[in-house]
Amino acid sequence: MPTRDANSQLSRDIPMPPELAPLPELAHNLCWTWNPDAVALFRSIDPDRWQACRHNAIALLRGLGKRRIATLASDREFTRRLGRVAGRMRSTLRRRTWHQGTRQRRRRGSIAYFSMEFAIHESLPIFAGGLGVLAGDHLKSASDLGLPLVGVGIFWRHGYSRQMIDARGKQGDGHRRLVAENLPMTEAVDRSGRRLRIRVLIAAETVTARAWRVDVGRVPLFLLDTDLPANSPSQRNLTKRLYSGNADMRIQQEILLGIGGWMLLRKLGLPVKVCHLNEGHAVFCALARIADGVREDDLEFADAARRVSATTVFTTHTPIADGNETFQPKLVERYLASYCKRLGIDFAELLAMGRVDPADAEEDFGLTPLALRLADRRNGVSELHGQVSRGMWRALWPRRTLERVPIGSITNGIHLRTWLHPKMAALLDEYLPPDWEDRQDQPSVWARARKIPAARLWDLRLELKRDLFEFIHGRLSTSGRCPGRSSGTAQGRGCLDPDVLTIGFARRFASYKRATLIFDDIRRAERLFNNKRRPIQIIFAGKAHPADTTGKALVAEIVKHARSPRFHGRVVFLEDYDMEVARHMVAGVDVWLNTPQRPREASGTSGMKPTLHGGLNLSILDGWWPEACVDGRNGWAVGRGEDYDGRPAADKRDARDLYRNLECNVVPLYYRRGRDHRPTAWIRMMKESIATIPGAFNSHRMVKAYYKHYYLPALEAARP
Ligand SMILES: *Cc1c(COP(=O)(O)O)cnc(C)c1O
Repeated sequence: MPTRDANSQLSRDIPMPPELAPLPELAHNLCWTWNPDAVALFRSIDPDRWQACRHNAIALLRGLGKRRIATLASDREFTRRLGRVAGRMRSTLRRRTWHQGTRQRRRRGSIAYFSMEFAIHESLPIFAGGLGVLAGDHLKSASDLGLPLVGVGIFWRHGYSRQMIDARGKQGDGHRRLVAENLPMTEAVDRSGRRLRIRVLIAAETVTARAWRVDVGRVPLFLLDTDLPANSPSQRNLTKRLYSGNADMRIQQEILLGIGGWMLLRKLGLPVKVCHLNEGHAVFCALARIADGVREDDLEFADAARRVSATTVFTTHTPIADGNETFQPKLVERYLASYCKRLGIDFAELLAMGRVDPADAEEDFGLTPLALRLADRRNGVSELHGQVSRGMWRALWPRRTLERVPIGSITNGIHLRTWLHPKMAALLDEYLPPDWEDRQDQPSVWARARKIPAARLWDLRLELKRDLFEFIHGRLSTSGRCPGRSSGTAQGRGCLDPDVLTIGFARRFASYKRATLIFDDIRRAERLFNNKRRPIQIIFAGKAHPADTTGKALVAEIVKHARSPRFHGRVVFLEDYDMEVARHMVAGVDVWLNTPQRPREASGTSGMKPTLHGGLNLSILDGWWPEACVDGRNGWAVGRGEDYDGRPAADKRDARDLYRNLECNVVPLYYRRGRDHRPTAWIRMMKESIATIPGAFNSHRMVKAYYKHYYLPALEAARP
């Protein structure tokens, strides 16, 4: 574990006998979540409770009875194993890192990574979807690589909504209050060791916040929290639920994240020189930094702003114009006019910075234009998205040609250890070079996957698929339901048969993702699902935002199909999508389906996860997929890269190409068996998927790219 610093002193101790002392130590650093031995160790303590407490190690330990503790402490095999796991964890955290090996390490100063949501693990459910998963994976790779980076976010006391499907197939939204004591968090303290409080001016009132520190390997993540007695009820509710409020609440939350987050970093005394804004939500951080420059260094606004821009990185994620958050000027005035004095500008000047056309008084105030103006380093999250973003925002640089609009791209990646099933990791250990994990971003390392014997890979595929089905049955039985139905009738006729080609579709139910596209022509779909010799089955998961009635209608439509006898239980909807569901699905399915309206999927990352296990993508050429897809070799392209034009005909066209692909390519290949009853050509594609995709789409490659292209030059610019 990292050395115990002032922040650890306030950790509420979990009393344990000396033999078990490493247990709370392990539980207090979330790097256990990507160490399969540590996960197995916690599970072995009490498998049922482990499941019941949603893999929350702190809650598990706190709930242990005296007798169980005594038994464990006297269990020599357990304590030896614990010693081994904890020892290895400590040495991993102390190991020389990639960053220490680079010559740039002497550039002092660290990077603060701001995000509204972080998905580190299902036991800390303060995320909604891909944006949070990306932020979590970013921190994990930064930790593995030894980057001097800290995360800044919000402790959403009630997390994000939980999904419950009722008897009529409608999505209900629940919330569960998180208990800080039962999470791997300690209250952050200031330089003199006192509990830290920050006071943020929001409209005319001061809101008090504290911060929790979560250790993600070597990287600390600080989460702001306004649920304090000093605050009014509405102020306390600011950090209650992720993405729940109206515009008025949103802007307050964004002020808290950006301005409060920056105040927090200063109080902590961290040498932060560069701020990375993951989406526009945290853009007000730049205003806080400019105000510091104006006040402390007596700078003019323009000079202070130039200094801040040079050290700000902004990553945009939203290729849909409407998805870029804007506020009415009146609202902005209420909350930000008071900051203008500190900035040394008029409110009108501030408003202008949030407009595409500064002179257009009719235009609302947008977070994206503001962030683009206040960050010199800007990027989209795939090559295609970079290009789309340059087109969307070119009006901000009227004198530049399209290609010279200064928005670059760094394609997203996934944290391999988080998403790789331990059984698959064992197989890779056998066939990839011994240091493959350290060299995971070198594509040549993965070429060796082609040497994995077909039989080994196929047998593991079937095993992982069975594991997935067992997981699904377990979940459905604890929630009192069987796949997609409220009574057991779906089970009978070949429901979730491991010999059947299995497709997975899981992500937020935003309408542009078109979850129901595979049912566009219901008869054609029926023929595919119910084919006697060559059927298919599909597993869906995903939440619609609580206020998104269109998304909820999509959920209801899928649930209807799942419960309808016409699909013989071959359509399954899994409730309450989260990281645990994702891990099982990406390991177990044969095909990962993604059908967004191009180019609305900025990158997408879920499709990268199955490729680690030989899962094959069947996807619209959107987001990251055009960079990876070799059609018919490592997956399949739906469509030929046509942009969606908003007309129903475009949906029809994409649906037709999806059916054509399934009927002519995917299904025949899967069921074409060799003499050993294995699908030889399919297995060859699985190997191609492993050999060509994870090596390029991992978050080590991504974080190194941010470091090289953005963080390093920004740190350079920050030097006095
Ligand atoms: C990977 C992941 C996502 C991102 O999915 P996309 O298809 O890229 O939108 C969202 N939620 C969870 C839980 C994930 O694991």
